[in-house]
Amino acid sequence: TRDRKEVRDYIRTIADFPHEGILFRDVTTLFADPRGFRMAVDQMIHAWAGQQIDRVVGLEARGFILGGAIAHQLSLGFVPIRKKGKLPATTIAESYTLEYGEAVVEIHDDAIRPGEKVLLVDDLLATGGTAAAGIRLVERLGGSVMGCGFVVDLPDLGGRAKLEALGMDVHAICA
Ligand code: IMP
Repeated sequence: TRDRKEVRDYIRTIADFPHEGILFRDVTTLFADPRGFRMAVDQMIHAWAGQQIDRVVGLEARGFILGGAIAHQLSLGFVPIRKKGKLPATTIAESYTLEYGEAVVEIHDDAIRPGEKVLLVDDLLATGGTAAAGIRLVERLGGSVMGCGFVVDLPDLGGRAKLEALGMDVHAICA
């Protein structure tokens, strides 16, 4: 019989991780399933059909898994945005506030050419702080973010509104 599972059905929810009271969306079960992973990647690509993309940028760490697959499927290059101190060559950095404290993300300063149209990819959109920092990095290098793609959007946390207020086109497979 035909498998009618949707992308959302492959995502597992873990209570109290990494802190008490958090319902963590665990996409490792989606990535581990051959049909689920292909559906997720195909749906993320489909959202941008007909639009020009020059480069795929992924946010550490699950954005690498999705972004790598998307870039390969589109025969595009992939660029990582990493947490501070991980990239070996010259970088630029952006910081953003977390619930407790601050985080810093970096990109190689030669990774994006001026004028490139970038698709920014991550697994999940919560407050939008991570993606907004990624957008600033790409824009500082002269790139323009043509869209932000996620598997999961948690709209109550305001990320979509924040990114749309920056003029971004946001697409997520499920909420
Ligand atoms: P934001 O910056 O608040 O939008 O948080 C999004 C970032 O945190 C992304 O890089 C996600 O991978 C990660 N994240 C936050 N909550 C979850 C979750 O429930 N599951 C998986 N990743 C999460």
